Amino acid sequence: MTARVLDGATVAQSILAEVAARIEARVAAGGSRPCLATVLVGDDPASATYVRMKQRRAERVGMASGDHHLPADATTAQVLNLVRTLNQDDEVSGILVQSPPPPGVDEDAVMAAIDPAKDIDGLTPHSAGLLALGTPGLLPCTPAGIIELLDRYEIALEGREAVVVGRSNLVGKPVAQLLLRRNATVTICHSRTADLAGHCRRADVLVAAVGRTYIVRPDWVKPGAAVIDVGTNRLDDKLVGDVAPEVAAVAGWLTPNPGGVGPMTIAMLLRNTLQAEEMRRPLRS
Ligand code: NAP
Repeated sequence: MTARVLDGATVAQSILAEVAARIEARVAAGGSRPCLATVLVGDDPASATYVRMKQRRAERVGMASGDHHLPADATTAQVLNLVRTLNQDDEVSGILVQSPPPPGVDEDAVMAAIDPAKDIDGLTPHSAGLLALGTPGLLPCTPAGIIELLDRYEIALEGREAVVVGRSNLVGKPVAQLLLRRNATVTICHSRTADLAGHCRRADVLVAAVGRTYIVRPDWVKPGAAVIDVGTNRLDDKLVGDVAPEVAAVAGWLTPNPGGVGPMTIAMLLRNTLQAEEMRRPLRS
């Protein structure tokens, strides 16, 4: 068997087109234009590139955007002040603080200060609480993108075995909660899991969010399973995932990496930004 491709790049393009159309219709109906505010602290080149990419995508779908840059020696108090100003700015729909900030900044305190209504990354304690309770709210982008991708390919989740490798607050835990919400039977594995391969072999849907090159081997995968490769690892100057390429011969569905989960994450960020604006400033009828 050769796995069918879960083409995140193409699905992300259609989501971005949907977001663009919704913004155009909203503005035409007299509604506000959504605005993405990004906060970059310091000069890490990779972080600066990510922020630029998010800004460019936002502009391409017709959003306004504001880029806020603080120096590498900014204090937590300075970052908190900026976040509070953006919270109060009615024109700002969503706030993205690029992670990680320099070590001197208390990232948890900064995240917690973001107004939940503008938490487009879906990572504040408030949003995490809503997710755990199963209450509607802004969802974390990578996990939401994974579920959206599975849905667009009509991969059934209810009653199926889902195994998530990784338990971070960013990916593993929230994707497990979303799979549970969809009535999958969910197992979460991590670095202390005994018989990791055995757990993975039971999965109808296997999500690898580890950050270890090719940790998921073909003999870990149930024939026909849907395999989602979240990892981003460097191998000989190339970006590769957590799933070995040979898995394609066993899995039924597989995300390319790059070109699978990554583009979906950005599409979800922009969809969250629009959704945040729609909820905060609904169109008057
Ligand atoms: P993380 O915070 O480092 O978490 C990694 C998880 O993997 C931890 O729960 C860890 O277990 C587990 N783990 C590590 N080694 C393991 C092993 N040998 N066996 C089993 N489990 C193991 O990373 P993350 O933020 O969740 O990200 C995971 C990967 O996804 C990274 O490569 C990251 O770059 C990538 N990522 C990609 C996107 C995207 O949009 N494409 C978005 C987010 C993240 P413990 O908890 O026991 O330590």
